[in-house]
Amino acid sequence: MEKVVIIGSGPAGLTAGIYTARAALEPLVIAGLQPGGQLTTTSIVENWPGSGPEGIDGNELMTKMRAQAEHMGARFKEGRVTRIEHKADGTFVIHLDEETVHTQTLIAATGASAITLPLPNGAKLMGYGLSTCAVCDGFFYRNKKVAVVGGGDSAMEEASYLAKLAAEVTLIHRRESFRASKTMVDRVQANPKIRIITDTEVVDTLSNSQGLTGIVMRNLKTDVRTDLNVDGLFMAIGHHPNTEFLRGLADMDEKGYLHVKNGTYTNVPGLFAAGDVEDQLYRQAITAAGRGCQAALQVERYLEGHGH
Ligand code: FAD
Ligand code: NAP
Repeated sequence: MEKVVIIGSGPAGLTAGIYTARAALEPLVIAGLQPGGQLTTTSIVENWPGSGPEGIDGNELMTKMRAQAEHMGARFKEGRVTRIEHKADGTFVIHLDEETVHTQTLIAATGASAITLPLPNGAKLMGYGLSTCAVCDGFFYRNKKVAVVGGGDSAMEEASYLAKLAAEVTLIHRRESFRASKTMVDRVQANPKIRIITDTEVVDTLSNSQGLTGIVMRNLKTDVRTDLNVDGLFMAIGHHPNTEFLRGLADMDEKGYLHVKNGTYTNVPGLFAAGDVEDQLYRQAITAAGRGCQAALQVERYLEGHGH
């Protein structure tokens, strides 16, 4: 029986790992299918305090965070959680793909996953022209034409990153104003390799046997449809929380974000939630890490209150 299991190895899970390990709770971290979480899909993180004026590479930051948690005594298990059972005695059984783990408490820090557009042939073209990660796939589009969909920070970042590799980048957004931060929008607008198209959505794909060859756009004001020849389409239209394995057990909103109160307590005693899985407002690495710290301290208090 574990004292605490942390599900997820992004900034929230790893920070919870560092804190619970330092509190001698011998945490077990289940890393999931994306060890290190969302930051492993980005290049330079400029707003992580302490990384200096040059920022820090997302993968490097997460590798260091994991090494720090391991150094403190956190143990890691690869794998994906599919279901949680809450036993009558208040403990939990965590079902992974091929095994189960028993624990007194758990911290859900499973973050969020990229949303994709429901495009015709979308599933078939994923990896063959369609992508949700410029840092992962941008290399394949050197000197080619690409488009990015979205108007948030991710879309700005993807467009700026791709502009360093691709021949030209078209940023397509469904509204006129952007929800991304001003700095990021300014950077995109100032980049001569990036063309911006607003009030427009992508409605179809064009392809041959090799993969994507273009997209069909629709202007939302005029309803006019236009083809655009591109080799790649990067979708940066947000994320949905990874909470399917908690459906029916923990309270969540209609989008699947876990409800928490007084910090990181869910409605289930012994189940805590931290990071993008419960925060749809801030969704930053530093806020996720802060919540991971909070969850760890609250787990410690909870276990003390239960005589452990
Ligand atoms: P995540 O990082 O999403 O980690 C979730 C973890 O849970 C992963 O390890 C995953 O494998 C695991 N998991 C999921 N489901 C399961 C399951 N069923 N079983 C087991 N494990 C599971 N924020 C910034 O502050 N600065 C930035 O510069 C910045 N850049 C970004 C760039 C991009 C392209 C993106 C997509 C996001 C960026 N963000 C940035 C946001 C930041 O990455 C997130 O806010 C942060 O990673 C959230 O941390 P988290 O620990 O809550 O979740
Ligand atoms: P986001 O802020 O939710 O933005 C999603 C964008 O996609 C919005 O512009 C939205 O349009 C658009 N969109 C949503 N559904 C769409 C659809 N079906 N068709 C077309 N467009 C659609 O998501 P995000 O950009 O991934 O950012 C998530 C969080 O991570 C944010 O908190 C962000 O600050 C953070 N982040 C930070 C950094 C950084 O600081 N460097 C980098 C990346 C991400 P509308 O605007 O019209 O809704």
